[in-house]
Amino acid sequence: MAIRVLIVEDEEQIARFVELELKHEGYVTGKAADGRTGLSMAESGEYDIVLLDIMLPELNGLEVLRRLRKTSEIPVILLTARDSVMDKVSGLDLGADDYVTKPFAIEELLARIRVALKKKGGAPKEDGTKLTWNDLTVDPAAYSVTYDGVPVELSKREFDMLALLLTNKNIVLSRDTLLQKVCGYDYVGETNVIDVYIRYLRTKIDERFGVHMIQTIRGVGYVIKDE
Ligand code: CA
Repeated sequence: MAIRVLIVEDEEQIARFVELELKHEGYVTGKAADGRTGLSMAESGEYDIVLLDIMLPELNGLEVLRRLRKTSEIPVILLTARDSVMDKVSGLDLGADDYVTKPFAIEELLARIRVALKKKGGAPKEDGTKLTWNDLTVDPAAYSVTYDGVPVELSKREFDMLALLLTNKNIVLSRDTLLQKVCGYDYVGETNVIDVYIRYLRTKIDERFGVHMIQTIRGVGYVIKDE
């Protein structure tokens, strides 16, 4: 059965170009030119994946995503403007599966659609093993983090990043590796997103509890070492 792609994009030229290319690849497409229409179409259950522009009339893309995630786990790929790191980070935190930066090559978009559809196939299973560092305990099964018994609230991506660093304790992970593992795709040239997450983690853990957990290895990446 053909895969149905919803394109939510108010720039008619981009929407039409993407639609033509997707149809050429055998996808069935639907289009919405504003956030409100896009949200109701995405919620209809008639689509397999959503390509969601951020700057939209009526409701912006991030608001569409936030509302959509209350009822649906449909894969969402954000179409973002160049240099809007905060949009990307908020989008991923709100549950976007991926993003492409405009202007994008159609091959890149097609590749990310395939990855996003495949990724939704099966969520990783947790075996209940807790990860620890100093007084920090991360429980992947319960999705909880505590420091000396004090709960620490993390977003999903922050949690995934922390768990990955702890799983690879004493091993330096490059920004590229962190991006690939945490975001599920090779975001070439977008590694500043990782620095933003590291900053959030340091604020929420290192600074709050007065520890030096996440170490920067200049020019390489980040590591959490055994005390
Ligand atoms: Ca737009």
